[in-house]
Amino acid sequence: MKTPRSRPWRIFSGYPLHESNNPFDGSSSLPTSLSVDGDSLQRQIDELSTFSDTPAPSVTRILYSEKDVLARRYIKNLMGLSGLSVREDAVGNIFGRWDGYEPGLPAVATGSHIDAIPYSGKYDGVVGVLGAIEAINVLKRSGFRPKRSLEVILFTSEEPTRFGISCLGSRLLAGSVTLAEALKKTTVDGQNISFVDAARLAGYMKDEDDLSSVFLNSGSYSAFLELHIEQGPILEAEGLSIGIVTAIAAPASIKVDFEGNGGHAGAVLMPNRNDAGLAAAELALAVEKHVLDSGSIDTVGTVGILELHPGAINSIPSKPHLEIGMIYRVQKLQSLLYAHNPDPCFHMWQIPGTLMRNEEMK
Ligand SMILES: [Zn+2]
Repeated sequence: MKTPRSRPWRIFSGYPLHESNNPFDGSSSLPTSLSVDGDSLQRQIDELSTFSDTPAPSVTRILYSEKDVLARRYIKNLMGLSGLSVREDAVGNIFGRWDGYEPGLPAVATGSHIDAIPYSGKYDGVVGVLGAIEAINVLKRSGFRPKRSLEVILFTSEEPTRFGISCLGSRLLAGSVTLAEALKKTTVDGQNISFVDAARLAGYMKDEDDLSSVFLNSGSYSAFLELHIEQGPILEAEGLSIGIVTAIAAPASIKVDFEGNGGHAGAVLMPNRNDAGLAAAELALAVEKHVLDSGSIDTVGTVGILELHPGAINSIPSKPHLEIGMIYRVQKLQSLLYAHNPDPCFHMWQIPGTLMRNEEMK
């Protein structure tokens, strides 16, 4: 039997309608049910997925690309159709606001992102944006009037695909001066296109060199809620349809370059080497051990890039480059790299005579 897409509010809330903690108490028009239009929501998710640089069913939507700009237009149009007042800031964070009857109060916001890593799926952050717009539609259809303003936010560049910076829009909203400076002066993509040029091409940062206009004043919001699909297998394995987030994941990444003497692999004998490739490999293993020892099931660390220079079978690696991605706190990762940790494992990759440089990525 097909599961009905429309469900009454009672099922979503878990509360009987007339209980005192019901948010509709005090409203003159008490709704009897709130029905999500699941078919229309699915149609929008499918339509949005067509703004992609790779063929269906994959979705590739990179920051400020033509497809990203078209997808943003699609979202702004939907916000308009829902009667929201739409605002964009200098980097393209998009806000759709439904004024409450006390609009001076800090708003309640919800939303997510629509940029998509190469060959990703169509749901990812999209559910949190389109779902939020539909949630507003549901409340409007019910006759509800919010006390605080409700706002749907589309955050620019949650994914680091283009400029190596994740959560770019929300970090700026949080007031990161360091990031604002880097975006204006040094940030380029793989094609050496600057962030500023890419943003201008997409219609942002027009005459705004001052990214501090993106920073939010404290007290702008009283609450924020994000709906997001689970991108791992845990809920499915446990047969659960939804989970509640209990902690915030802090993504961090670091680029590390080692430097050794190199040399001919046949001529330089083992006791005389400082093999920088082995140093990099041992750091990769140290990252794994560090994460496993953290005692946190949600902490992950990955060495996704490991390049050896000169990269020949008969040449001792002299300049390896690796990039570590961690979902953790950046301070912890730095303490690992600076090797003040008493764990002897952390010292193994400090092969004598090998230099290590590292750069914290944004
Ligand atoms: Zn996402």
